[in-house]
Amino acid sequence: KSKAQMFEPNHMKVTFKDVAGLDEAKEEVEEIVDFLKNSKKYTDLGGKIPKGVLLVGPPGTGKTLLAKAVAGEAGVPFFSMSGSDFVEMFVGVGAARVRDLFKQAKEKAPCIIFIDEIDAIGRSRGKGSMPGSNDERENTLNSLLVEMDGFGTDSGVIILAATNRPDVLDSALMRAGRFDRQISVDKPDINGREQIFKVHLNPIKVADNVNPKELATQTPGFAGAELANVCNEAALIAARNNKPAVDMDDFMAAIDRVIGGLEKKNKIISPEE
Ligand code: ATP
Repeated sequence: KSKAQMFEPNHMKVTFKDVAGLDEAKEEVEEIVDFLKNSKKYTDLGGKIPKGVLLVGPPGTGKTLLAKAVAGEAGVPFFSMSGSDFVEMFVGVGAARVRDLFKQAKEKAPCIIFIDEIDAIGRSRGKGSMPGSNDERENTLNSLLVEMDGFGTDSGVIILAATNRPDVLDSALMRAGRFDRQISVDKPDINGREQIFKVHLNPIKVADNVNPKELATQTPGFAGAELANVCNEAALIAARNNKPAVDMDDFMAAIDRVIGGLEKKNKIISPEE
């Protein structure tokens, strides 16, 4: 697989209507859409368009979805990479991937670069590590900083990065001209959950007794990804029982199943419990 293919830009069909709840975060990223679509308007007045925006929040809350929607709304290519993909055993590979990604993105500007799990490369340097053991990761982080400093604010490339651990990030990443903006993408409240259910119930054939508001009250603490999972599990349970439509019993069984899955995951993370 060639490196060029690795960063083949995707054209997004995701738009803001696919992202439910998250009203504040959406409002903030709407500005980024305008930066991408009408950059001249800003630069003509001498404004500096931000290069990097950090999306901060727990897993499954829609950070990736939101980044894709920004690209979709602006109608620009979307280059995506996970922080962990940069980290390789071989010296120099991570840094070379960063350079390659930026080179390709600049050619396709205006565009979005999305870096998921930026903490995998962006942990603060030289802390809590054996001397020398993290050289490769630090090289990768350094090359990311160099690339971000190396293009102008009028280049049309905006980098969105996601993390659920902003506390471990190297402060150099957050300096002016790098990821100097943060948007929080939190778990949904009851109204947010209702909105997310409405989106994910849409493709499902539901019985008359299925009510998104009731489902939202039954799922406190769930992130969007878990709610999407509930809808899918409910459909599978109903189909398995040869039902003509997915009813409330199926959703309750699905909620139990998703809670069971979450409990298992938590046990693995914290075995002392
Ligand atoms: P991670 O930090 O684990 O990468 P994330 O915050 O990037 O998670 P996504 O990958 O965007 O989360 O969410 C996973 C899936 O969950 C989405 O593709 C979507 O189906 C659903 N989802 C999450 N949040 C929302 C939301 N606010 N509205 C609609 N669907 C959502």
